[in-house]
Amino acid sequence: MSGPSGVGKGTVRQKVMEDETLNLAYSISMTTRGPRAGEENGREYFFVTKEEFEKNIKEGNLLEYNFFVSNYYGTPKSYVDQLRNEGKNVLLEIDVNGAKTVMAKCKEIGDDVVSFFILPPSMQALENRIRGRRSEPEDVIQERLSKAAAEIDQSSNYKYPVVNDNLEETAKLIRDIIVKESNKNSD
Ligand code: 5GP
Repeated sequence: MSGPSGVGKGTVRQKVMEDETLNLAYSISMTTRGPRAGEENGREYFFVTKEEFEKNIKEGNLLEYNFFVSNYYGTPKSYVDQLRNEGKNVLLEIDVNGAKTVMAKCKEIGDDVVSFFILPPSMQALENRIRGRRSEPEDVIQERLSKAAAEIDQSSNYKYPVVNDNLEETAKLIRDIIVKESNKNSD
Protein backbone atom coordinates (compact mmCIF):
# COMPACT_ATOMS: atom_id res chain seq x y z
CA MET A 1 0.00 0.00 0.00
CA SER A 2 1.34 3.38 -0.99
CA GLY A 3 0.02 6.90 -1.10
CA PRO A 4 1.26 10.39 -0.45
CA SER A 5 2.15 11.61 2.98
CA GLY A 6 -0.97 12.81 4.81
CA VAL A 7 -3.46 10.78 2.75
CA GLY A 8 -4.47 8.74 5.79
CA LYS A 9 -2.80 5.44 4.92
CA GLY A 10 -2.15 4.58 8.55
CA THR A 11 -5.77 5.08 9.57
CA VAL A 12 -7.04 3.13 6.56
CA ARG A 13 -4.61 0.33 7.32
CA GLN A 14 -5.73 0.10 10.95
CA LYS A 15 -9.36 0.00 9.89
CA VAL A 16 -8.73 -2.72 7.29
CA MET A 17 -6.78 -4.78 9.81
CA GLU A 18 -9.68 -4.80 12.25
CA ASP A 19 -11.06 -7.57 10.04
CA GLU A 20 -9.18 -10.58 11.37
CA THR A 21 -10.55 -12.89 8.71
CA LEU A 22 -8.18 -11.26 6.22
CA ASN A 23 -5.24 -12.85 8.04
CA LEU A 24 -3.17 -9.70 7.66
CA ALA A 25 0.00 -8.78 9.51
CA TYR A 26 1.60 -5.37 9.28
CA SER A 27 5.25 -5.15 8.39
CA ILE A 28 6.74 -2.62 10.81
CA SER A 29 9.33 -0.55 9.00
CA MET A 30 12.59 0.83 10.27
CA THR A 31 13.20 4.57 10.03
CA THR A 32 15.64 7.26 11.08
CA ARG A 33 12.88 9.87 11.45
CA GLY A 34 11.91 10.75 14.99
CA PRO A 35 8.62 9.50 16.47
CA ARG A 36 5.58 11.80 16.16
CA ALA A 37 3.38 12.42 19.18
CA GLY A 38 1.65 9.17 20.06
CA GLU A 39 3.99 6.94 18.05
CA GLU A 40 5.78 4.12 19.83
CA ASN A 41 8.97 2.28 19.00
CA GLY A 42 8.10 -1.18 17.68
CA ARG A 43 4.49 -0.27 16.92
CA GLU A 44 4.41 2.34 14.13
CA TYR A 45 8.11 1.98 13.33
CA PHE A 46 11.40 0.75 14.68
CA PHE A 47 13.06 4.10 15.29
CA VAL A 48 16.82 3.86 14.81
CA THR A 49 19.83 6.12 14.30
CA LYS A 50 21.37 6.74 10.88
CA GLU A 51 24.34 4.58 11.90
CA GLU A 52 22.10 1.65 12.89
CA PHE A 53 20.13 1.97 9.65
CA GLU A 54 23.27 2.01 7.52
CA LYS A 55 24.57 -1.05 9.37
CA ASN A 56 21.33 -2.86 8.45
CA ILE A 57 21.77 -1.86 4.79
CA LYS A 58 25.35 -3.16 4.80
CA GLU A 59 24.34 -6.44 6.40
CA GLY A 60 21.58 -6.98 3.81
CA ASN A 61 18.82 -7.01 6.45
CA LEU A 62 16.38 -4.90 4.43
CA LEU A 63 14.00 -6.17 1.77
CA GLU A 64 13.99 -2.65 0.36
CA TYR A 65 14.78 0.84 1.61
CA ASN A 66 14.56 4.41 0.46
CA PHE A 67 15.71 7.85 1.48
CA PHE A 68 12.57 9.99 1.81
CA VAL A 69 12.48 13.67 2.84
CA SER A 70 15.82 13.54 4.71
CA ASN A 71 15.29 10.17 6.39
CA TYR A 72 15.79 6.50 5.69
CA TYR A 73 12.84 4.11 5.65
CA GLY A 74 13.13 0.38 5.07
CA THR A 75 11.43 -3.01 5.40
CA PRO A 76 13.20 -5.47 7.73
CA LYS A 77 13.49 -8.71 5.77
CA SER A 78 13.56 -11.19 8.65
CA TYR A 79 10.30 -9.85 10.08
CA VAL A 80 8.49 -10.22 6.74
CA ASP A 81 9.91 -13.74 6.32
CA GLN A 82 8.76 -14.68 9.82
CA LEU A 83 5.21 -13.43 9.17
CA ARG A 84 5.05 -15.19 5.82
CA ASN A 85 6.26 -18.43 7.38
CA GLU A 86 3.37 -18.07 9.82
CA GLY A 87 1.10 -18.01 6.76
CA LYS A 88 0.15 -14.37 7.08
CA ASN A 89 -0.77 -11.96 4.31
CA VAL A 90 1.84 -9.28 4.92
CA LEU A 91 0.83 -5.67 4.50
CA LEU A 92 3.59 -3.23 3.58
CA GLU A 93 2.94 0.48 3.78
CA ILE A 94 5.82 1.93 1.81
CA ASP A 95 6.68 4.68 -0.64
CA VAL A 96 6.54 4.35 -4.44
CA ASN A 97 10.23 3.52 -4.85
CA GLY A 98 10.14 0.83 -2.19
CA ALA A 99 6.97 -0.60 -3.71
CA LYS A 100 8.62 -0.79 -7.12
CA THR A 101 11.46 -2.83 -5.64
CA VAL A 102 9.10 -5.17 -3.78
CA MET A 103 6.83 -5.67 -6.82
CA ALA A 104 9.86 -6.49 -8.99
CA LYS A 105 11.27 -8.94 -6.41
CA CYS A 106 7.94 -10.70 -6.00
CA LYS A 107 7.51 -10.97 -9.75
CA GLU A 108 10.95 -12.55 -9.98
CA ILE A 109 10.08 -15.30 -7.52
CA GLY A 110 6.47 -15.69 -8.64
CA ASP A 111 4.91 -14.30 -5.46
CA ASP A 112 1.53 -12.60 -5.51
CA VAL A 113 1.29 -8.90 -4.78
CA VAL A 114 -1.87 -6.88 -4.48
CA SER A 115 -0.99 -3.21 -4.82
CA PHE A 116 -3.07 -0.29 -3.60
CA PHE A 117 -2.42 3.39 -4.10
CA ILE A 118 -4.39 5.63 -1.74
CA LEU A 119 -5.31 8.97 -3.33
CA PRO A 120 -6.57 12.14 -1.62
CA PRO A 121 -9.95 13.55 -2.69
CA SER A 122 -8.03 16.72 -3.75
CA MET A 123 -4.59 18.29 -3.38
CA GLN A 124 -6.09 20.93 -1.10
CA ALA A 125 -7.47 18.24 1.20
CA LEU A 126 -4.02 16.68 1.31
CA GLU A 127 -2.33 19.97 2.18
CA ASN A 128 -4.86 20.63 4.94
CA ARG A 129 -4.13 17.22 6.45
CA ILE A 130 -0.36 17.60 6.34
CA ARG A 131 -0.62 21.06 7.94
CA GLY A 132 -3.17 19.86 10.48
CA ARG A 133 -0.66 17.37 11.82
CA ARG A 134 1.43 20.34 13.04
CA SER A 135 4.45 18.12 13.48
CA GLU A 136 6.80 19.52 10.88
CA PRO A 137 8.46 22.79 9.89
CA GLU A 138 7.39 24.61 6.69
CA ASP A 139 10.31 23.39 4.55
CA VAL A 140 9.52 19.75 5.38
CA ILE A 141 5.82 20.38 4.63
CA GLN A 142 6.74 21.87 1.24
CA GLU A 143 8.99 18.94 0.48
CA ARG A 144 6.27 16.45 1.44
CA LEU A 145 3.78 18.28 -0.80
CA SER A 146 6.00 18.29 -3.86
CA LYS A 147 6.86 14.65 -3.18
CA ALA A 148 3.13 13.91 -2.97
CA ALA A 149 2.52 15.24 -6.48
CA ALA A 150 5.38 13.12 -7.85
CA GLU A 151 4.08 10.03 -6.04
CA ILE A 152 0.55 10.52 -7.35
CA ASP A 153 2.02 10.58 -10.87
CA GLN A 154 3.06 6.97 -10.28
CA SER A 155 -0.28 5.72 -9.04
CA SER A 156 -0.94 3.99 -12.36
CA ASN A 157 1.78 1.43 -11.47
CA TYR A 158 -0.63 0.05 -8.86
CA LYS A 159 -3.40 -2.40 -9.53
CA TYR A 160 -5.91 -0.62 -7.30
CA PRO A 161 -5.99 3.19 -7.04
CA VAL A 162 -8.39 4.09 -4.21
CA VAL A 163 -9.61 7.61 -3.36
CA ASN A 164 -9.77 8.04 0.40
CA ASP A 165 -12.83 10.25 0.72
CA ASN A 166 -14.51 8.38 3.54
CA LEU A 167 -12.58 6.11 5.90
CA GLU A 168 -15.28 3.45 6.30
CA GLU A 169 -15.90 3.20 2.56
CA THR A 170 -12.21 3.14 1.70
CA ALA A 171 -11.52 0.40 4.24
CA LYS A 172 -14.49 -1.64 3.00
CA LEU A 173 -13.37 -1.35 -0.61
CA ILE A 174 -9.87 -2.53 0.28
CA ARG A 175 -11.18 -5.39 2.44
CA ASP A 176 -13.41 -6.55 -0.43
CA ILE A 177 -10.49 -6.45 -2.86
CA ILE A 178 -8.29 -8.50 -0.50
CA VAL A 179 -11.03 -11.12 -0.15
CA LYS A 180 -11.49 -11.25 -3.93
CA GLU A 181 -7.75 -11.54 -4.55
CA SER A 182 -7.33 -14.22 -1.86
CA ASN A 183 -10.11 -16.29 -3.37
CA LYS A 184 -8.50 -15.97 -6.78
CA ASN A 185 -5.28 -17.46 -5.39
CA SER A 186 -6.98 -20.36 -3.68
CA ASP A 187 -8.90 -21.35 -6.85
P1 5GP B 1 5.97 9.02 7.34
O1 5GP B 1 7.19 9.81 7.75
O2 5GP B 1 4.86 9.94 6.92
O3 5GP B 1 5.56 7.99 8.37
O4 5GP B 1 6.36 8.18 6.05
C1 5GP B 1 6.89 8.80 4.92
C2 5GP B 1 6.84 7.86 3.72
O5 5GP B 1 7.68 6.73 3.93
C3 5GP B 1 5.44 7.30 3.46
O6 5GP B 1 5.20 7.35 2.06
C4 5GP B 1 5.56 5.87 3.93
O7 5GP B 1 4.66 5.02 3.25
C5 5GP B 1 6.98 5.56 3.55
N1 5GP B 1 7.52 4.39 4.23
C6 5GP B 1 7.22 3.94 5.47
N2 5GP B 1 7.90 2.81 5.71
C7 5GP B 1 8.63 2.54 4.61
C8 5GP B 1 9.53 1.49 4.25
O8 5GP B 1 9.80 0.56 4.98
N3 5GP B 1 10.09 1.57 3.03
C9 5GP B 1 9.85 2.58 2.17
N4 5GP B 1 10.44 2.53 0.97
N5 5GP B 1 9.00 3.58 2.46
C10 5GP B 1 8.41 3.56 3.66
